[in-house]
Amino acid sequence: MSTALVSGGAGFLGSHLCDRLLGEGHRVICADNLDTGSLENIEHIRNGDFVFVNHDLTQHFEIGEPIDFVFHLASPASPIDYMRLPLHTLKVGSYGTHNMLGLAKVKRARFLLASTSEVYGDPQVHPQPETYWGHVNPIGPRGVYDEAKRYAEAMTMAYHRQQGVDTCIARIFNTYGPRMRPHDGRAIPTFMRQALEGKPITVFGDGSQTRSFCYVDDLIRGLYLLATSGEHLPVNIGNPTEMSLLELAEAVIRVTGSESEIVFEALPIDDPQVRQPDITRARQVLGWEPEVTLEDGLRRLTDYLAGEPANAQVGV
Ligand code: NAD
Repeated sequence: MSTALVSGGAGFLGSHLCDRLLGEGHRVICADNLDTGSLENIEHIRNGDFVFVNHDLTQHFEIGEPIDFVFHLASPASPIDYMRLPLHTLKVGSYGTHNMLGLAKVKRARFLLASTSEVYGDPQVHPQPETYWGHVNPIGPRGVYDEAKRYAEAMTMAYHRQQGVDTCIARIFNTYGPRMRPHDGRAIPTFMRQALEGKPITVFGDGSQTRSFCYVDDLIRGLYLLATSGEHLPVNIGNPTEMSLLELAEAVIRVTGSESEIVFEALPIDDPQVRQPDITRARQVLGWEPEVTLEDGLRRLTDYLAGEPANAQVGV
């Protein structure tokens, strides 16, 4: 039986990844300091092959047993979180990534970095292929996250090229699903909460900026395929169906049957104008593409939030 370490495993994506790895028959060590994650995300796991370690991964981390995979997801991910924790975000992208790569080196483990579409910044190329180097403002409020991830990518490639570590890099585009925190500030949990509470839906700017939303099950399947492939260069994992934020708000209202109105608020600084993955490489290298449509994903999320037993397993 192989063992996987999941840093940030008590977070939104990390907890779904733990579920998937256990389902595939791996032993899982989940390491998290619960900064933005929570024990609630993993409390459903009743499995002798699962261990939780409460640890800040910017600090020295040692583990005695053999490790076959290191999935490095630990990092604040929502703008609300990384603007509240700017130095920590830089540290977890630098020291934290260094610690996890060092562990992968010692254990001869396959290493996966959870990178982000934010390495592309406010893109001048659309849709974004992995060959695009990005357009990032290093000194803006989002710079702490974008540059931490760019640095983490550079360090991952250095460990691969100089130290021979078996690494891969997933550039994750906006993902949604059960276990997102309703107040984490990201568009889908915010719109869903507002729609279900009958409150006005707050769209930034005029809502014409675009995003592409991937359902969590599709994303986790992509991460697993990448980790078990032999690929070393970055691969975009995201849903290429692009829509404006206004269209998203309308879809949320339709699916939830809400009577909320849409209101407009000031656009945050450095908010990217467009965002759409080119997933040609993911198709070619991993045979991966998303299967869950936005309407279907929003319906699953609505059922989950309503706590309907028939769909409760979506969150497990
Ligand atoms: P999340 O905030 O739910 O999860 C992050 C987890 O990392 C949390 O459990 C948090 O407590 C933990 N963590 C943070 N700093 C830590 C530290 N120093 N030591 C130990 N644990 C620490 O966010 P998420 O949406 O699940 O994102 C997971 C990863 O995926 C992040 O690296 C993020 O950058 C990346 N990502 C996510 C998305 C998305 O749409 N969800 C998009 C692009 C990239």
